[in-house]
Amino acid sequence: RLYNEVIELKGNIKVFCRCRPLKQDEIANGSTSVVDFDLSQENELQITSSDSSRKLFKFDHVFKPEDSQEAIFEQTLPIVTSVLDGYNVCIFAYGQTGTGKTYTMEGTLENRGVNYRTLEELFRVSSERRSTMRYELFVSMLEVYNEKIRDLLVENSNQPAKKLEIKQSAEGTQEVPGLVETCVHGTDEVWALLASGSRVRSVGSTNANELSSRSHCLLRVTVMGENLISGQRTRSHLWLVDLAGSERVGRIEVDGERLKESQFINKSLSALGDVISALASKTHHVPYRNSKLTHILQSSLGGDCKTLMFVQISPSVADLGETLCSLNFASRVR
Ligand code: ADP
Ligand code: MG
Repeated sequence: RLYNEVIELKGNIKVFCRCRPLKQDEIANGSTSVVDFDLSQENELQITSSDSSRKLFKFDHVFKPEDSQEAIFEQTLPIVTSVLDGYNVCIFAYGQTGTGKTYTMEGTLENRGVNYRTLEELFRVSSERRSTMRYELFVSMLEVYNEKIRDLLVENSNQPAKKLEIKQSAEGTQEVPGLVETCVHGTDEVWALLASGSRVRSVGSTNANELSSRSHCLLRVTVMGENLISGQRTRSHLWLVDLAGSERVGRIEVDGERLKESQFINKSLSALGDVISALASKTHHVPYRNSKLTHILQSSLGGDCKTLMFVQISPSVADLGETLCSLNFASRVR
């Protein structure tokens, strides 16, 4: 069998691909899908280019346009709940703007995404285990924009905005001193918190979706666990990351500010690709320090940490170039 790219289930790194449906206006424009799903093998997809050349890709899971938020979460669940067993976990949504990164992670009130479902599941499992384990859950939310870190929950705790930096603790873990951590007890509280973080994120921009596509949004769930029988205590992190749009911008199309943003995004996304591919190939040196994004996540990437990347794609022929770029990026993560 011949694959252009083969992505195999390697240890603790998984890659899921999710293709959004064609939009009404794309259908109206006569756009067709360049993505085929019903192939002889499961979890493969095939892209047909305008010159009729075909490329086959394989992932740990392939989600079709009609797959529901429930179906996505069903596959994500074992990874997220491992944070309750003391594992550090990172989940990323990668892809061009408009491919459904925010839909997958945040979702909508009617179709909630991975973030909310994860917390719901963590509350459920922790109460199920309450005879042997005591858990406390804390939520932080931050944004990385132009290599600067901003606290998105700061408004909640009446603290003045301050510049956040990454520091190494005595134990060797990466911490962000001063980052707000809110103790959460139930899902109602969580939904309100996430919504308020999203609002803070879009403040100061004329077009909320525009700005949010140029920054990385990181939701961190900290789990403090105590085994009531052995007395053993654990502290682990689950990061749920809605990455900045991966699309390339032409030098001529944009002004200076936009070009600078785009260079920061390119740099941090390729730093992320470098880190994950170094981990997947078990390279000795992992270049965490090349971006704020990978540096913050250092203690939660590698070792026995679990990593899941959603590669989000558009089915539209108009997005073919970016779709191939995203799929190729994902195949570096082998
Ligand atoms: P991104 O965050 O990657 O820029 P969005 O999550 O904002 O993309 O998605 C763009 C639009 O497409 C939104 O209106 C979203 O609701 C819709 N969308 C994305 N994925 C899906 C899907 N799987 N099913 C239905 N609608 C989707
Ligand atoms: Mg988005």
